[in-house]
Amino acid sequence: MTELPEALTLAKQLRDTVAGRSVARVEAGRSPHGFAFYSLPTEEYPAVLAGRPLGPAEAHGMFIFMSAGENALLLGDGINLRYYAEAAEAPPKHQLLLELEGGGALVCSVQMYGGMWACPGGVCDNPYYRTALEKPSPLSEAFDAAYFEGLLASAKPTLSAKAFLATEQRIPGLGNGSLQDILFTARVHPKAKLKDLPDLKLEALFTQTKALLADMAAKGGRNTEKDLFGKPGAYQSILSAKTAALPCPACGGPVTRQAYLGGNVYFCPNCQAL
Ligand SMILES: [Zn+2]
Repeated sequence: MTELPEALTLAKQLRDTVAGRSVARVEAGRSPHGFAFYSLPTEEYPAVLAGRPLGPAEAHGMFIFMSAGENALLLGDGINLRYYAEAAEAPPKHQLLLELEGGGALVCSVQMYGGMWACPGGVCDNPYYRTALEKPSPLSEAFDAAYFEGLLASAKPTLSAKAFLATEQRIPGLGNGSLQDILFTARVHPKAKLKDLPDLKLEALFTQTKALLADMAAKGGRNTEKDLFGKPGAYQSILSAKTAALPCPACGGPVTRQAYLGGNVYFCPNCQAL
């Protein structure tokens, strides 16, 4: 799933590739998908998006926002977004296709679930998106130690480290993927309760959140995700489904995989002792 590092990468690639180009043709809902979400009946998408120039894309948390003339398109985190230089190269199955003037196409396909919201008047009325807009990005200066302490102070002390970092959009764009390496490098167990963590560990969570998200973004996202051209990111995930069978890179012990709070967590029970 797209998280902040990938959303930033995609937004930059979109700015470099399609910003300023007009949408020539729109096809929404071509391949039925039970968990593809639209803001309007799909037959209304062409009227909102076609014939309009795409503005420079912005990443907000896990979301990608692009104006289309006076209207806009908002993409959520479960969308595979690809650009094809020739529209004819686009795969036949998709949930949203924007053919561009001068050739080329943007294609959205939904993985497990995902939203592709056409926004008349440029207003995208999505509560998660609004939250992402309101809160400071973890890569911004506003997201400093004092801000992080404020987040900790307003969280229930019995909350686990995973619940604190990666649920309820508390930190926009930090999801279950980026989370694994942040917890590992901070040496914090996903289920450790905030009240049981010493100050040093809480500081490590803050430092690693900023440092790793910045590193992932600088490297064009994680290697478990693909960019606008279908290329995996250059950030090598330490703990993910890709590495679950490998020994812990710090101690050589086995890595544990567990379903916890919507998604698997990967951790080293030795390095990240509870
Ligand atoms: Zn270990």
